[in-house]
Amino acid sequence: MVGERREIVVVGGGVAGCAVTRWLASDHDVLLLEANQIAGDASGKASGMVTNGASFRAHPEFARTAAAFFEEFDGTGSFTFTERESVGLVAEGGGDWGREEAKRMRAAGFDVEFADAASLEERYPGIFDLNGYEGAVIYNDTGWLDPYTYTMTLADTAADRGADVRTGVRVTDLLVDDGAVVGVESTDGVVHADTVVVAAGWRTRELCSPQLQLPVRPFRWQAATLNPGQPIPDWYPMGWDPVINRYWRPEHNGSIHVGGGEAVVTNPGSRRKTVPEEFKVRLATEIPGLHRRLEKATFVRGDTCPTGDATTPDTYPIIDTPDEGPENLVVATGFHIGGIMSSPAIADAVRSLVTGEELGFSLDPFSLDRFEVRSSEFPFVCHMAETEITDARIGATGSKNPGE
Ligand SMILES: Cc1cc2nc3c(=O)[nH]c(=O)nc-3n(C[C@H](O)[C@H](O)[C@H](O)COP(=O)(O)OP(=O)(O)OC[C@H]3O[C@@H](n4cnc5c(N)ncnc54)[C@H](O)[C@@H]3O)c2cc1C
Repeated sequence: MVGERREIVVVGGGVAGCAVTRWLASDHDVLLLEANQIAGDASGKASGMVTNGASFRAHPEFARTAAAFFEEFDGTGSFTFTERESVGLVAEGGGDWGREEAKRMRAAGFDVEFADAASLEERYPGIFDLNGYEGAVIYNDTGWLDPYTYTMTLADTAADRGADVRTGVRVTDLLVDDGAVVGVESTDGVVHADTVVVAAGWRTRELCSPQLQLPVRPFRWQAATLNPGQPIPDWYPMGWDPVINRYWRPEHNGSIHVGGGEAVVTNPGSRRKTVPEEFKVRLATEIPGLHRRLEKATFVRGDTCPTGDATTPDTYPIIDTPDEGPENLVVATGFHIGGIMSSPAIADAVRSLVTGEELGFSLDPFSLDRFEVRSSEFPFVCHMAETEITDARIGATGSKNPGE
């Protein structure tokens, strides 16, 4: 690889890097370098919830751009997208907020309605114990996918379009000359490039440093697959409960996938294969009270980010060519809210930053300069529950630090 020259080098073969590569490959010479394997970190372990309208409610154009892609991509290779509505439960006292949310989302072009507890029971008989809930906001533009298959299909179709996708090659440094990135150093040697896109998850921070400081820190999502021990209807909705900070979706094989319970990573680089005992205990105490069909559920499997997902101080990503960094450097990181579901919009955004093409949404909310801090020592905020996750809060739920 010594002396190799490419138009664009993309660093990181997670969902962001693979989507970006696919979006650029048809009319650019693109090399993707992945240190380990495609979808080998957070991307391969995600829950696959596609709930853009709700998750990116503050950025409806970004959300719509992302959501539109999955139906179109359905059936490509082994990739399938399952459409299913999501039930965002609303606790007692939150009805006015729920009605207002539904109205606002409809005005933004999403198919969303509010259902009070009685209508919810009528619509989903015998599913929820709604004691303590006023109802739910129902988002009809949502669904789920298998994140590993999705990311692999993005990589495969990028290669079909002419991209060079290489795994087992770690980028060790950015090559910078006269204030501009001119390529990368890697475990396979040097590659010169006109543009370098770093989409290396939480490691984007260390790779861009010292030329550029990014306020990004790792954390881990935690999820589990449960066997209900009884048949569940094939219309079982997806959804989430901000009170207990959990989300769920059905699987095609009759099991239920439950996630949430983020864990602060205190030892970046450490690897985890499954969830800790404490998370299982918390699921066992929280889930049966809400899901009637899961009263006798058994634990099948735990999933977590092997090393970590990335978050920022306001939980939204950084997709930018920051002025304070070297020229020709694009960063795409901090996909706390949902890197899988937002990947088509991430790729659109990076393509626009590289080519100068017009974009259907503003990138201002995702620029680096919206932040005052550059340190990674900011408090971790959970976007689902909109609360700060601290050791004290984790301690209050009975576990010191369930992620580490
Ligand atoms: C349990 C769980 C549930 C989740 N649920 C959802 C969900 O339902 N919906 C949703 O949208 N999102 C979900 N997520 C979040 C989503 O998975 C992430 O936001 C997304 O995968 C981040 O993608 P990424 O490409 O930025 O990072 P990653 O997938 O972490 O990819 C980064 C890649 O960069 C590589 N890399 C790092 N450094 C280098 C280097 N120096 N050289 C070369 N390569 C390098 C890494 O090896 C890695 O493969 C979930 C995550 C988990 C773990």
